[in-house]
Amino acid sequence: MDLGIAGKWALVCGASKGLGRGCAQALLREGVNVVIVARGAEVLEATAAALQADPLRPVSAVVQAVAADITTEAGRAAVFAVRKDFDIVVTNAGGPPPGDFREWDREAWIKAVDANMLTPIELIKATVDGMAARGFGRIVNITSSAVKSPIDVLGLSNGARGGLTGFVAGVSRSSLAAKGVTINNLLPGAFDTDRLKSGMQSASSKTGQPIDAIREVRMKAIPAQRFGHPEEFGAICAFLCSVHAGYMTGQNVLADGGAYSGTF
Ligand code: NAD
Repeated sequence: MDLGIAGKWALVCGASKGLGRGCAQALLREGVNVVIVARGAEVLEATAAALQADPLRPVSAVVQAVAADITTEAGRAAVFAVRKDFDIVVTNAGGPPPGDFREWDREAWIKAVDANMLTPIELIKATVDGMAARGFGRIVNITSSAVKSPIDVLGLSNGARGGLTGFVAGVSRSSLAAKGVTINNLLPGAFDTDRLKSGMQSASSKTGQPIDAIREVRMKAIPAQRFGHPEEFGAICAFLCSVHAGYMTGQNVLADGGAYSGTF
């Protein structure tokens, strides 16, 4: 299927690794020009080089790297100094740490809300009016399956992402919808990324269980009996960004191998 977005410009945040990288790769393969953002310049440049070398990338599609912390005003200014008129924006940043809510102070909450709620809102605010004026726009927010099925130790994530989800439910149904701009959330379950590995690593250090045993138990709990691959997450993101998904807005799309057990 031709997704009809070749030649468009995308901003993909948190794209040096994991799910963001998967989204950047999928968009590039569709001929989209992509600006990738992450904090560490070295890993980001290596990712840009690898994406550039992807044999499935049409030669016309360019990748540009901006090393910046997207959760700061200065970081966002650095990105928008490179380009303002993005057609596609994939919002993403590291998720908040797990823990006990009794130990989270105001600072911990502000950090989580900043990264996982206010940053996507700032990115939406900065780009959707331009998209609407041009008659096409796609925002995809990488959130979490925990929005639908909360995990107790991820209270910071549940709270901050819940706030973003409420905001998106409203703004996606504003006058932007009639101007070709869609805003959707893509909710990962367990995907095989560094974040997932570090979570299992810390569980292993705490319990003394070998990491392979923890991995096995977690996979067995998922109907698909495996973790997702960033490439398949990227493919879903690219479809949401395609011309074919223009009638789909304000949705929370789960990609979790069937882990969420519910009819809706
Ligand atoms: P990851 O750690 O593998 O990659 C995160 C990427 O974001 C890296 O490129 C990192 O450099 C970048 N990044 C982090 N903070 C940033 C910032 N402030 N500014 C710019 N770049 C930043 O993580 P992942 O597994 O790809 O997860 C992406 C998001 O999805 C996270 O918010 C995570 O909580 C959420 N999530 C992941 C899973 C999973 O199973 N992998 C499940 C549910 C939710």
